[in-house]
Amino acid sequence: MSRCPSVAHASVDRCRQAPAKTTKKITLRLTCTNCKSVRLKPIKRSKHFEICDKKPKGKQMFARLRLGVRHAPVAAAGLAAFGAASATECSWMSIDSMYELLSPPAALSPAEWRPLKVFSVEQLTHNTKRLRFTFPDVHAAAGMEVASCLVTRAFIGKLKEDGTRGVVVRPYTPSHTTVGYLELVIKEYPEGKMSKHIASLKVGDTLEFKGPIPKFSYITNAFSHVGMVAGGSGITPMLQVAERILDNPHDDTQEVSLVFANVTEDDILLRDKIDEMRAAHPDQFKVTYVLDSPPPGWDGPSGLLSPEILRESLPPPGIVTKILVCGPPGMVAAVCGPKANNEKDQGEVCGHLRTLGFTSEHVFKF
Ligand SMILES: Cc1cc2nc3c(=O)[nH]c(=O)nc-3n(C[C@H](O)[C@H](O)[C@H](O)COP(=O)(O)OP(=O)(O)OC[C@H]3O[C@@H](n4cnc5c(N)ncnc54)[C@H](O)[C@@H]3O)c2cc1C
Repeated sequence: MSRCPSVAHASVDRCRQAPAKTTKKITLRLTCTNCKSVRLKPIKRSKHFEICDKKPKGKQMFARLRLGVRHAPVAAAGLAAFGAASATECSWMSIDSMYELLSPPAALSPAEWRPLKVFSVEQLTHNTKRLRFTFPDVHAAAGMEVASCLVTRAFIGKLKEDGTRGVVVRPYTPSHTTVGYLELVIKEYPEGKMSKHIASLKVGDTLEFKGPIPKFSYITNAFSHVGMVAGGSGITPMLQVAERILDNPHDDTQEVSLVFANVTEDDILLRDKIDEMRAAHPDQFKVTYVLDSPPPGWDGPSGLLSPEILRESLPPPGIVTKILVCGPPGMVAAVCGPKANNEKDQGEVCGHLRTLGFTSEHVFKF
């Protein structure tokens, strides 16, 4: 998790502690008093810290930590700077300092390319693979905000006169990130430059990454209904947002409705994960799979996405509704109109969503 520029104004408004029998996991709920964004900050080295107490002082909230005996060297070094002499000593520190201390170091940089090594490759379907990339520092994290993506770079383009190859750069949203590594799910296109390259990587090979690059800043409880229209690998940013909503007990979003379009049933990326999320949150997470070429007996919608399919599956337009769209350019154009040439310009909302009454206030195109 990267450091919020305004975290100096953050306040701890809740500390949640799991029963001692399970783990000593603590989640800090940090609310930025500037932008009101809420971040849940699970303390990763949960065995090593415990919040004993918290108290306000001036504009800041201070928390007192008790350290476990088997404290991590990083934590020990950090706490020494705050005057904690022994492993079990309680010390008061500002939440700002604590946040800094407990945030894992950043594995990636938005300013420079960093090579990451592949440590596992799994074939998921006939044309998709899951690759895990390890960080050189095992305590580091990708620091991804929801929703953001990374860009990858490889010198696999056109052969130049000097014998070198042109650079190819493509964005990807990790399907999972945690301390120590990140995970990409890649759909391989027969003519695709980067997807073929990534799919050809073996354990021990490296790929260059830069980022994170923020795409859509999800703010807890900003919407009562979130609709998602994804096609193919466009599912990955949607799952980032859906997980953020569903995994946060303080997020009161009433409904997350995902419409996921694919050619065949075999093409449905990360279906196990989506179905698990749906089973865990049956009242909050609704999923509609749509197939171009359905197998015999398919009871879901089929054919290209139409206003009727979207009307059935998405929440209606409203001031507290947001519809997120990510997929191949043809699908995005039909559903909501293309983004403008400038990546940062969302372009007008047209297509099926406009037919259904949605406007640019309701729609975000990844
Ligand atoms: C924010 C964001 C996040 C993304 N996250 C992921 C991710 O997690 N996993 C992932 O696999 N991809 C993801 N993508 C898509 C990815 O960036 C590339 O566009 C994709 O891998 C194809 O790149 P390529 O170089 O292989 O194909 P290119 O060389 O760019 O294209 C070659 C041919 O491949 C086909 N093709 C390319 N892209 C598509 C497509 N989306 N749908 C249908 N046909 C296509 C077309 O026929 C095209 O002519 C994401 C895109 C964005 C914008």
